Amino acid sequence: QLAQGEYGDEQLGRVVAHFGRNMEVEGSDGVHHLCHLRANLDTLVTGDRVSWREAGDGSGVVEARLERDSTLERPDARGRLKSVAANIDRIMIVFAVEPEPHPFLIDRYLVAAEATGIAPALVLNKMDLLDEHHALHALAGRYRALGYAVIGASTRHDGGLEDLIAAMDDTTAVFVGQSGVGKSSLIDALLPEESLAVGELSVDSRKGRHTTTTARLYHFRQGSGALIDSPGIREFGLGHLDEQQVENGFIEFRPWLGHCRFRDCRHRHEPGCAILAAAENGEISPERLESFRRIVHELNAPPR
Ligand code: GDP
Ligand code: ZN
Repeated sequence: QLAQGEYGDEQLGRVVAHFGRNMEVEGSDGVHHLCHLRANLDTLVTGDRVSWREAGDGSGVVEARLERDSTLERPDARGRLKSVAANIDRIMIVFAVEPEPHPFLIDRYLVAAEATGIAPALVLNKMDLLDEHHALHALAGRYRALGYAVIGASTRHDGGLEDLIAAMDDTTAVFVGQSGVGKSSLIDALLPEESLAVGELSVDSRKGRHTTTTARLYHFRQGSGALIDSPGIREFGLGHLDEQQVENGFIEFRPWLGHCRFRDCRHRHEPGCAILAAAENGEISPERLESFRRIVHELNAPPR
């Protein structure tokens, strides 16, 4: 045991929640410690990997932040991008058999995800409502053909979450998607009854999850996946993308970009447009080209 004021050895940990310059850090042994940030460090975000030391009274001091693999950003009230979470490996875009999904909305989420550099995957929830001839099989097939994982899920079937749990093994994920698709239901089913029983601290309870605005990291009940969640993260959207980021967000456009006759081609009616040619040859689907145009249109004429 360390006496008050003595500092233990440097250890690795991960920020599971933060409250200004105070944070809850999960040590490599899974125990949570309330830590404060050394004065010369910038604010950290949930998901940050840190090196920290015990301060002798169960609390600790964060000494350094390890390099981030990825950052999820959202515009603040003044429109400036702010980091909300770090080291996320997967953006799980949840859609469902009902409300009936519109491919355009899925494409918007995919574009936003591609701009972060974090790999997206699609979760088709409410599989219990899907009948064999449903058009969603074709929709899922189209996204799989683009290289995206489409994982079926149901919170109403025994074993309905097994594929999802397996797909998220060893990753830290976020769930995004329209309201009503079942994000809360999925999260409730995936997390342990008492999420915080794993930690020593009960700074926050899961009931408080919906009222707190900062993100929190949770471990799944099964498998080795983790989730970072907050109301703001669930509403993750297009943010402040420019046209070039939108182009790049349509991953099947990438081989054709830079091959249009005009360098500033906007892939509408321009002669010598490589994207239009690819769409005419069936190499780009008309639905995706339509989504691209709608997203660009929205960027330029944002709804008031
Ligand atoms: P959120 O707005 O994305 O968080 O969605 P909710 O978790 O609140 O779910 C919206 C509705 O869908 C609720 O009535 C849920 O009970 C229902 N729901 C969630 N998952 C499933 C599912 O797998 N199957 C069916 N049939 N309904 C579901
Ligand atoms: Zn073009």
